[in-house]
Amino acid sequence: MRMVVKIAGALLDDASVVQSLARQIAQLAHQGHELLIVHGGGKIFTATLKRMGITSQFVNGLRVTDRETRDVAVMVLGGLLNKRVAGAISAAGQPAIGLCASDASCFLAEPMIHDEVPGSLGFVGYLTGVNLEFLETLWKNGIVPVASCLGLGADGEIYNINADHMAAASAEYVHAERLIYLTDVAGVLDGKKVLKAVSCEEVEDLIRVHKVSGGMVLKLEACKRALSAGVPQVRIVGGANETGLLSAANGGKMGTRVTTAFPAAAAGVGQ
Ligand code: ADP
Ligand code: MG
Repeated sequence: MRMVVKIAGALLDDASVVQSLARQIAQLAHQGHELLIVHGGGKIFTATLKRMGITSQFVNGLRVTDRETRDVAVMVLGGLLNKRVAGAISAAGQPAIGLCASDASCFLAEPMIHDEVPGSLGFVGYLTGVNLEFLETLWKNGIVPVASCLGLGADGEIYNINADHMAAASAEYVHAERLIYLTDVAGVLDGKKVLKAVSCEEVEDLIRVHKVSGGMVLKLEACKRALSAGVPQVRIVGGANETGLLSAANGGKMGTRVTTAFPAAAAGVGQ
């Protein structure tokens, strides 16, 4: 089965979690699944900006990414973290390759339009295409591609892409059968309870009554996008759980399934 797995940046701060995820990815790849791993940034990106004395401006909560900030994003996301993930998977016995946008034009981007002005956030983009032929060559040769959340623009510049949206758009472009978000919480929470399923219709309500906020809003929007683009299965699972990824990949019950239909109608379907 072809699957896109997004690893939250926060999970990469913990070496034992990275190792556990790498083992699960290796196991799934050995079983013959075609995996595309997409990872986010985590604390190290902000910490590196701070160390280099680069301050950021935010517009409506979005970081304006000037050239200097973008360069740090490429260093940290496309460099250190990308190699950390690919290295851990390779060390777990499954060859993996770390990819940054520009490698074989693997991930293409266009500047984000904000307040009707394209590029007003600097080098922030959205994914517009993938080099599927290249990814398929890797899968055929038993190599797991690991993508940092960066895209190559038509101008030859590298753009920073929100990792949740990059995972959703990639799942669409590679025709993935499953999209799995590994995050730092056990799933979509209602108080302390993990919701077993959330339908696209319910997402708006959950946001309106403030049951869902912050990064989870973006993630659920990305899930909706993937579902409307035809990705059949979308799930949000706790990535720190030792079997979270295996469970999500094998249609287990952990975490939250995001569905097009209301949960009652979706219960048991496609599990
Ligand atoms: P990621 O790196 O996986 O994208 P984010 O920090 O962007 O993680 O989004 C996950 C965060 O969303 C959680 O850690 C939590 O703080 C926040 N959140 C807000 N509402 C909810 C909710 N209802 N259920 C789960 N997480 C929520
Ligand atoms: Mg997030």
